[in-house]
Order: sequence, then C-alpha cells, then structure tokens
Amino acid sequence: YTGRFAPSPTGSLHLGSLLAAVGSFLDARSRGGRWLVRMEDLDRARVVPGSADEILRTLEAFGLLWDGEVEYQSRRTHLYAEALTALRAAGHTFECRCSRRELSVPGEPRPAGGSPYPGTCREAHRQPGNTATRFRIDETETVVFDDRFQGPIALAMGNLGDVIVRRRDGVFAYQLAVVVDDALQAITDVVRGADLLESTGWQIALQRALCLPTPRYAHLPLLLEQSGDKLSKSRRSAAL
Ligand code: GLU
Repeated sequence: YTGRFAPSPTGSLHLGSLLAAVGSFLDARSRGGRWLVRMEDLDRARVVPGSADEILRTLEAFGLLWDGEVEYQSRRTHLYAEALTALRAAGHTFECRCSRRELSVPGEPRPAGGSPYPGTCREAHRQPGNTATRFRIDETETVVFDDRFQGPIALAMGNLGDVIVRRRDGVFAYQLAVVVDDALQAITDVVRGADLLESTGWQIALQRALCLPTPRYAHLPLLLEQSGDKLSKSRRSAAL
C-alpha cells in the first residue's frame, strides 16, 4: 500500500483539506502502508509563496507525518513533457485555440454539470504554437470503477469531453501531472475529496492511453460551508 496527500500550495489548509489528509493518512497507516506528500505547485500564478512550507508544518502539527522526501511537481516537469510526447505520438491529443470565453467553460476541471468541450478544434490538425493541448477522449467509452467509499461509478467520457493536458501558457495541467506522478510514485490507493470524482474518468482514460496502472480510488464526502458551498482556499475558508 502506498498512499499520498497532494495539496496545491495556493493558500493555507482548511478543514476540508484536513479531512482528505486524515482520511488518506489513516487508510495508509491502518494497512501498514507508506504515505507520501506531493506538492502540486505547477500553476506558478496561483502558488502562494511560503504556503508549501506552511502546509507541511500544519501536517506535522496534526501528527500527519509522511514517509520519504516531499515531491514538488515544479521540479518534475520533464516527466510531464515526456508523457505529453508519448500521448502526441500515439495520436491521443490535438491542439486547441479556443478561448475560455468562446467555450463559456469557466476553467478546468469543470464544475459538475458544466458542458463538455464541444470539439471545435478536434479535426483542425494544428501544430503546437499559441495553443493548448487537449487529450482526445473516446466519446463512446464509459469508464467504470469501484470506488471504495462511493461504490460502483460509471463515467460517460462524452459527458466529460476532451480535457486540457497542457495549457496555452505552457503549464502542464493537473490531470496529466497527477496521472504521471501517481504512477511513478507507485501509488496504490488514492484517497481524496469527492470533488475529484469526475476527474477520475479523465485520469483512468489517461492511464490507459499511457499504459500506466490504475490505483484504487476512495473519494471522501466533502465538508461544506453552512451555505452549502465547498470549503476552498479561493473562498478563503478558515485556515486550520
Ligand atoms: N492538488 C489537488 C487539490 O489540492 C488534489 C489532487 C489529488 O488528490 O488528486 O485539490
């Protein structure tokens, strides 16, 4: 068993992130497994200086002690570049020039119920340039897996759409990086918040395209604000 906690250092941990950390920590320790910490710090514009260290000190303060060295995604970009090259070579990607406004999709991962990418650039055969790179999903495919907490899950890839793996500004996207790292760090069990349940469809499809193993998944229920919104760093939920 190898588990992991993979925070984005974009602010202080809040109670929702602690729930995910405790869940994955206890699951790992109860099975005599290893528990790794990985900083998902690829989006330099959103990273808050000092917050990676603050997160580590917070984990320590709660007794959530990790094994081995903390990995930083910002030091591993050559690995994501290799994966992107492999995806491209196998014809799993296309270059996309659509702006967010044209798509009226408020960023990715999309909120549940948002519309999937409409496929505008799919057959355009563009060269990489001032473009984002999207992973071409198979819209006839349904990704099926057994979530240890949520039960049997079936995600129709046509409802998810072609996901960005490299942004127009050159930053590798979360969906690609997480798949590469979970495989290279030999993660057997992903325990995280249910806000990432839908993303698991993309992640399993990417694992198959890259011939990488699929870990077991366990998505924890989310803690919510009194308003019903999810706790988040961007909404400035109270720091731990
Ligand atoms: N970095 C992601 C976040 O903070 C979590 C990624 C994951 O657990 O797969 O939401």
